[in-house]
Amino acid sequence: MPKRPPPTQNIQKNNEKKVTKMYRYETHLHTVPVSKCARASVRDTMEFYKSIGYDGIFITNHFIDGNINVDRSLPYEDRINFYFSDYEEAKRLESEIGIRIFLGVEVSYAGTDFLVYGLDKEWFLSHPDLEKLSKKQQLALYMENGALVIHAHPFRESGHIDHIRLFPRSVQGIEIINANRTDFENEMAKQYADNYGFFYFAGSDNHVGGAQKKFAGMESETPIIDEYDFIERVRESKMQVFAWKREE
Ligand SMILES: [Zn+2]
Ligand SMILES: [Zn+2]
Repeated sequence: MPKRPPPTQNIQKNNEKKVTKMYRYETHLHTVPVSKCARASVRDTMEFYKSIGYDGIFITNHFIDGNINVDRSLPYEDRINFYFSDYEEAKRLESEIGIRIFLGVEVSYAGTDFLVYGLDKEWFLSHPDLEKLSKKQQLALYMENGALVIHAHPFRESGHIDHIRLFPRSVQGIEIINANRTDFENEMAKQYADNYGFFYFAGSDNHVGGAQKKFAGMESETPIIDEYDFIERVRESKMQVFAWKREE
């Protein structure tokens, strides 16, 4: 599996070239009302990312197996419809606000989180038995259907996480920079990626829109067309991780 150079090298390379413009994408982002732990609306989040010059954002709310604001006793179809409602709102605002909107899904297993790109609402609606599968079986099914599966912040430690779990045969990439995690947790993630030959991936895990101070994401020299183009570029190491911090 080809490896992407570490982010420090990217930064040096960019400085040498005095890069004209890189197209920046937020790959890990939560909005209200869908994500229970998020604080920012779809519109505010979009306007904020537009104002800081991003070309696009992926809405990656917590799926029905995670911290979602939905009544869990509702039928699968109703929960799926609610799940996609923030993304659909963002799509409706896409041309008005002028920032590209893409879809991702953050699936969870008791504090272990995965970002899944390349599957849409129709796909989820046509897989009503998804919840009967184990997490490992779900991840395999996503990949069989062409999705890109990234282990988000694999070394995150938190009060609600009993223990760190790795799924080295069930993911393709690793979030080596999560803007909300510590340098140590991110460095451990990078070592994990290097040892297994996983793709490098980065995202902010922004839950607060414009109140976010630290950012990470993926960038490219040309704009991405859609989720499938994005997946292909990540797989071919044609996108680079980036990270930056906003001044107070
Ligand atoms: Zn959250
Ligand atoms: Zn997240």
